[in-house]
Amino acid sequence: MTVLQALQKYFGYNAFRDTQAEIIDQILNGKDVLVLMPTGGGKSLCYQLPAVLLNGLTIVISPLIALMKDQVDSLNLTGIPAAFLNSSQSDSEQATITQKLKNNQIKLLYLAPERIFRSGSTLINFLKSLPVCLIAIDEAHCISQWGHDFRPEYLMLAGLKREFPKTPVIALTATADQLTQKDILEKLALDQPAQFVSSFNRANITYKVVPRKNSFVQLLQFLERRKEDSGIIYCLSRKATEGLAEQLQNAGYSARAYHAGLDNAEKSRNQEAFLRDEVKIIVATIAFGMGINKSNVRYVVHAHLPKNIEGYYQETGRAGRDGLPSDALLLYAASDGFKLREFAKVEGNEEQSAIMIKKLDDMVHFAQLQTCRRQYLMRYFNEDFPDNCGSCDVCMSEVKKFDGTLIAQMALSAVARVKERFGAAYVIDFLRGSKREKIREEHKQLKTYGVGAKIQRVDWTRYMRELVMQGYLQLTNDEYPVLKLTDKSDAVLKGLQKVELISTQIEHEQEAVALSFETGLLNELKLVRRDLAANANVPPYLIVSDTTLIEIATYLPHNPEDLRWISGFGDIKLARYGREFLVPVKNYCEKNKLDSRINQKLIRLERKPDQNRTSGKFRAADTRNESFSMYRSGKSISEIAHDRGLSPVTIEGHLSYFIQSGKIDVLEFVKEEKIPVIQDAIESYGIEKLSALKEVLGEGYSYGEIKAVISWMSRNE
Ligand code: ADP
Ligand code: ZN
Repeated sequence: MTVLQALQKYFGYNAFRDTQAEIIDQILNGKDVLVLMPTGGGKSLCYQLPAVLLNGLTIVISPLIALMKDQVDSLNLTGIPAAFLNSSQSDSEQATITQKLKNNQIKLLYLAPERIFRSGSTLINFLKSLPVCLIAIDEAHCISQWGHDFRPEYLMLAGLKREFPKTPVIALTATADQLTQKDILEKLALDQPAQFVSSFNRANITYKVVPRKNSFVQLLQFLERRKEDSGIIYCLSRKATEGLAEQLQNAGYSARAYHAGLDNAEKSRNQEAFLRDEVKIIVATIAFGMGINKSNVRYVVHAHLPKNIEGYYQETGRAGRDGLPSDALLLYAASDGFKLREFAKVEGNEEQSAIMIKKLDDMVHFAQLQTCRRQYLMRYFNEDFPDNCGSCDVCMSEVKKFDGTLIAQMALSAVARVKERFGAAYVIDFLRGSKREKIREEHKQLKTYGVGAKIQRVDWTRYMRELVMQGYLQLTNDEYPVLKLTDKSDAVLKGLQKVELISTQIEHEQEAVALSFETGLLNELKLVRRDLAANANVPPYLIVSDTTLIEIATYLPHNPEDLRWISGFGDIKLARYGREFLVPVKNYCEKNKLDSRINQKLIRLERKPDQNRTSGKFRAADTRNESFSMYRSGKSISEIAHDRGLSPVTIEGHLSYFIQSGKIDVLEFVKEEKIPVIQDAIESYGIEKLSALKEVLGEGYSYGEIKAVISWMSRNE
């Protein structure tokens, strides 16, 4: 079975995302790997797929029991035998699992780090007696004091390489700056690891900051269009979470509070209800989130400014793990910054306080930003990004202008009247007729004094700035800059030149995502999923993701063969649940006289394997380009593969892209006389099954040649 076949068979996906293929390649070649990928990027697959393909047991170290259970349930639903061992289990449960491990009946075993190395424990010796073929360390940043989530028990993992010197280790995290990365590598003693750093951009999340006025009304406005969606609202205090949850309940929303002060039973009740889609909104302090794997969180609201960008990014990152469009909304008031300042100070530690305050200032800066918010976030994490993302409030807002000639004339004549000797603050006070002493007596006698009283100071400040930007005024470079007229001023004063000023920025209401799925059908599918989940005693998103349901409601598969093309249906899920999901589709289509649209899905698949992942594409481009330039420098495919530590098949994949784009001539890969033969086979048998083509063509034709011709043909189309 090839890697791609396994991906389809077990997980039901058609293509790898981002660097997944290369990561898996490395693991299968026995190398240690460090993976940095944002939340929702698809880290789990990077070790789960090798676990399926390799002979033996994969041990997964994970910090949280809740997460382990989620992952194990998910794998078992997919038909991959997995288990965990932890203190929540009875002796007999543990004995059953131990027996299965001895019989090699389990592919993945999840463990907490302290469990393996607990003193007096015999577990480590037992594990060493098993054929362990891979060790995966999830949330690897927990090993570093530099990370924001240090867990001392992770330090014990330093002993792993000693105990399993020959077993490849893959460490994964969604948060690690360079210091933490280095720490992970050192502490785990990884052996010449291949490192994969993905872009941390979350392209499917829209960032929005709104000045907080009446936060509850603002929230209701925001929630109005999101009644069916799951979301998290973060508040600063425990009391605030309870108050807001109650207010929302009274307004007809299903909301629950979550904070560290609740007793454990209530915490897990609320969390469970949220995971199972029974409660739509969790109002929480930051205690909520770590360990929440729920993939269909559609929005995250901060009702208050977070303390730093790291926290903000991690919390907003809990939205949209499934890759569907999601929102991050921050309600911000200038007073937030002042209040948090007090908390930021660490008693008796100047240095630490300074760091915390700097981080807070960066957060305040973000909230006040007039430029692309995504760019700011990316730069904060040392990644470059263009200055217009098209999906933050700043980039989506349109500037509204008005005729500001009169205002400009007032401003310019005021500057002239005070003889171009004062700064903006003085000129504004003068225009507004301030009674302050600092306004000179002789100025108070002038006609211009007080003509601008009706315009607020903040607005005047903005207008002055704009007039300077447009060149009707200029500021001197002094310590106390003074406003001067320019050679453009005269025309304005004489009424010969109109001036446009910006009034407010209005925001384009975000257009509903142009996915033309059948809403009624989607709701029915969700009900089917809910029942299946209840039967299997797992959260609904583990049965199939929202993405999968939306695809069904878009492409209307009519039979199991169609369903294969829907992302998320591997063999087992198809066999177990396929029929259940097809019934409502059939009924719906009959009632509404609709045909299957599965052909459209096939067309899309050929064009864009993974449309959601713009960030992934940049990275894919990078690695492709690298292979290309090595090829151009005269290296053979196997040399490139060797140098880059990738498989020749991966390199062929990279280069075929350039055949398609015309940068490589197909004749560099295939002899001319072979082309029509391959072409003929492709036309008769299609490109879905490469192995079938290879069989038809026989020994004389390689996979590389076949792929090259496929790329070349798609270019000619
Ligand atoms: P992470 O652990 O990096 O936060 P996950 O491993 O939970 O992310 O993956 C996020 C989602 O993306 C999951 O629903 C997963 O099934 C899905 N996914 C992962 N890889 C692929 C792929 N190649 N094609 C389609 N969906 C994928
Ligand atoms: Zn932007």
